[in-house]
Amino acid sequence: MDLGIRGKRGIVCAASKGLGRGCAEALAEAGVDLVINARGAEALDTTAEAIRGRFQVRVTVVAADVTTEAGRAAVLAACPDPDILVTNAGGPPPGLWSDWSREDFIKALDANMLTPIALMQAALPGMMDRGWGRVVNITSQSVKAPIPALGLSNAARTGLTGFVAGTSRQVAPRGVTINNLLPGIHATDRAVALDDGVAEAEGLTREEATARRQATIPARRYGAPEEFGAACAFLCSVHAGFIVGQNLLIDGGATNATL
Ligand code: NAP
Repeated sequence: MDLGIRGKRGIVCAASKGLGRGCAEALAEAGVDLVINARGAEALDTTAEAIRGRFQVRVTVVAADVTTEAGRAAVLAACPDPDILVTNAGGPPPGLWSDWSREDFIKALDANMLTPIALMQAALPGMMDRGWGRVVNITSQSVKAPIPALGLSNAARTGLTGFVAGTSRQVAPRGVTINNLLPGIHATDRAVALDDGVAEAEGLTREEATARRQATIPARRYGAPEEFGAACAFLCSVHAGFIVGQNLLIDGGATNATL
């Protein structure tokens, strides 16, 4: 399917690895010129080079922490008028509800709620003026069903979801859509780190910890960043203009819910 977005300009945040990289690759395959971001310059350059080599699109790198004002300013300076914005950042650390201080909450809210909101506030006016735009926020399955050890994530991402629910309806009349993608467990560095943590805590090997988690997913495997990226590219396509303010779970059926 031709996604109809060849030549558009897109920003993909936190994209040197994992789900962000999957989204960047799928958009590049559809012909989108990209600004990609991550903190570490080396992995970011390697990813950019790989994308340029495979898809012959323009890829600009911005090595910066997107959860800071300066980082966001640098990303937006490299692409002041994006047609497509994919927001993403690292997730908050695990813990128990009673562990966290006000500062911990502010940090999580900054990274996983206020950063995507600030990026949208910067990008939406231009998209609305031009009569076309696509925003996809990478959130988490924890928005639909809370993950007990990830209370900071549950809280921050649900706040973002509320903002998107209202705002997406306000910008839709001008040809701009905002939707959220809710990943379940995907085979990325983050999933490996979580498996390592469980393995260490419970005296298992990483393989045992992985197999145990895979057994909880109806698809009996972890998701691949490539298939996550394909869903993102579709939501950014010309075919997705009637999909507004939705929260799409990509979790292999792990969230046991009717709706
Ligand atoms: P990942 O494989 O660890 O990759 C994270 C990417 O984000 C890297 O490119 C990293 O590069 C970049 N990054 C992290 N913090 C950043 C920051 N402050 N500014 C700019 N770039 C940053 O992670 P992932 O699995 O793709 O996860 C992406 C998001 O989805 C996270 O918020 C995660 O919590 C959420 N999620 C993931 C899963 C899963 O199973 N993978 C499930 C649910 C939710 P640098 O470190 O160099 O900055």
